[in-house]
Amino acid sequence: GSQEGMWRSGRSAAYPAPAEVAVQVDDVLGQVFGKAAFRPGQQQAVDAVMAGRDALVVLPTGGGKSLCYQAPAVALARAGLGRTIVVSPLIALMDDQVAALRERGVRAVALHSGLKGEALSEAKRQLPTAEIVYVSPERLASPAARRALARGVARVAVDEAHCVSQWGHDFRPEYLQLGVLKAEWGCPVIALTATATARVREEIVSSLRLVRPEVVLGALQRSELRMVVEHGTGERDRLERALRWIRQVKGGRVIVYAATRKRVVAVAAALQEAGIPAVHYHAGRTIGARAGAQERFASGAKQVMVATSAFGMGIDQPDVRLVVHVQSPGSLEAYWQEAGRAGRDGQPAHAVLLYHDGDAITQARLRGRTPAPGSEAGWRALQGYAYGTRCRQQVVAEHFFGAGAACGTCDVCAGVDAVASEVEGARERGRARRQEKAAREERDGAVQLTAEQVEQVVRFVGGMKRPAGKKLVAQGLRGSAAAPVKRRGLASVEGYGDLRGVPELAIERVIDDLLDEGRLVRKGKKYPTVWLADRPVRPVRAGGAKDGAGRVKGPERVLSDWRKAEARRRRVRPYQIFDNATLKALLEHKPTTAEALEAVPGMGPKRMERYADVLLELVAKALRSA
Ligand code: ADP
Ligand code: MG
Repeated sequence: GSQEGMWRSGRSAAYPAPAEVAVQVDDVLGQVFGKAAFRPGQQQAVDAVMAGRDALVVLPTGGGKSLCYQAPAVALARAGLGRTIVVSPLIALMDDQVAALRERGVRAVALHSGLKGEALSEAKRQLPTAEIVYVSPERLASPAARRALARGVARVAVDEAHCVSQWGHDFRPEYLQLGVLKAEWGCPVIALTATATARVREEIVSSLRLVRPEVVLGALQRSELRMVVEHGTGERDRLERALRWIRQVKGGRVIVYAATRKRVVAVAAALQEAGIPAVHYHAGRTIGARAGAQERFASGAKQVMVATSAFGMGIDQPDVRLVVHVQSPGSLEAYWQEAGRAGRDGQPAHAVLLYHDGDAITQARLRGRTPAPGSEAGWRALQGYAYGTRCRQQVVAEHFFGAGAACGTCDVCAGVDAVASEVEGARERGRARRQEKAAREERDGAVQLTAEQVEQVVRFVGGMKRPAGKKLVAQGLRGSAAAPVKRRGLASVEGYGDLRGVPELAIERVIDDLLDEGRLVRKGKKYPTVWLADRPVRPVRAGGAKDGAGRVKGPERVLSDWRKAEARRRRVRPYQIFDNATLKALLEHKPTTAEALEAVPGMGPKRMERYADVLLELVAKALRSA
């Protein structure tokens, strides 16, 4: 019959575990997991879990957090004291862990949305006798799912617990719901993370409603990890530095992090051009493209991964020899999390931050998009790290744990004078750049346009087909060949290039004046654009270009027909699916891969996510019918 009866539903027996069970956890460590001893942090965590206390375990990536709950889970389950429910944020992570546990003879099962059909019924069959159950946070949001799991729960483990923090980099709204587990099941809860700031720790404790938890703070012991900061002078300089670092790597893997998707795509292309096998990953790519990149990286076919912070949570690639940031991440927490992925096998590895002043602007923009008050402090800590002249690991350890010792391996430990002079040089360049910019603005802003030139500005705006931002208007008037100017069709507006030689800033100031006077008005919500007062904005007409006989051409028709149908389905106008310029660009570029498609002007991340697969198919079809 069902073995569910082996899980006692009463609580008293399980918290704390009887002494003999606490002893058995050591046998489990050796016999099931094949390890000689718990590491110091692990021992403290395991003791707390066995004693039935809540616990908050902060160990660095690779520190062995899984064992802190897996070993007690097996010991408790085999003593008939109930099973452990593990909350984990990523399906791939869950499947990996379950597979590894089964290999060791542990009855483990995962429940998540990725399970369909036969796999789902199989998981349900195994559920009653499972010793460890991995569950996604989404699933636990449903009261019915919680009720189905409620029987015989000995412990709850919440992995990657920093996901509860709204100000962190991996925030998962479903994690906020997990506090109900404590209320409904009443059993001890153990939370685990590698993110260790006091603020995140507090958020975890209060959000998961931990009661007087045992707090385990593992020291940073990453003597194999050599941390280096270099101050680059710009994007190209940083790319060249990254290339030099990558070329020094003999075996194993490399992760290159950038802050924006655009930069990720550009850096991956540049590396490939330089003959380096690189794949790329960011949240705007299709699920298939992301999985493909990850797979090629993991299988070693491509040794360099270029990615945004979207890549890497929980990845367990032991042989990452270099993590190099060509743009700085948003906080010291995020940096440590990403840099810490190097050298997990304990062999020498490098974590290189290529810093530039301009990153402050990029990060402020990214922060502005998703307001996160807490991240301001994290960013300041990162700047302190970049401009610092104290041991890198010590700075990180002090930030996280309030204390730390010099590592003896980082660039500062190797020679503080060289680092100090590099920092001084970077500061000096920054000062010079700011002064030059201020002087230029003063000079350019002081230029006065003639009355005729002001009229040229108004006429130009009047000749535009759609509203455009004032910077773009100024660039169009100056005859700029920049891609956004062309994409918005400003190069074909009468008056394009008429104000060549007039500083952009001076034109922008005139546009501001015209807006104040009411001759121009603002349009657009997310992105402010300018437009002639009293002139209605007409939607771009949909439909394909006509050939000489007035018939729509073949390949164009394939795409425009689909666009029309899709627009009808989504109840939007066809140009909202994508505009004619994008349609033209698609036909021009004829992309056959997701990478090529992504490079087509107008294909933003949303469109990639939604339409990448169907568009590739349509282009292929269009090519055949051409
Ligand atoms: P984390 O989740 O903290 O990043 P993991 O739980 O994935 O770390 O463990 C990292 C690695 O350390 C794994 O390969 C694991 O087998 C190993 N490990 C963990 N604890 C021990 C131990 N006590 N002795 C030896 N190896 C260990
Ligand atoms: Mg882990």
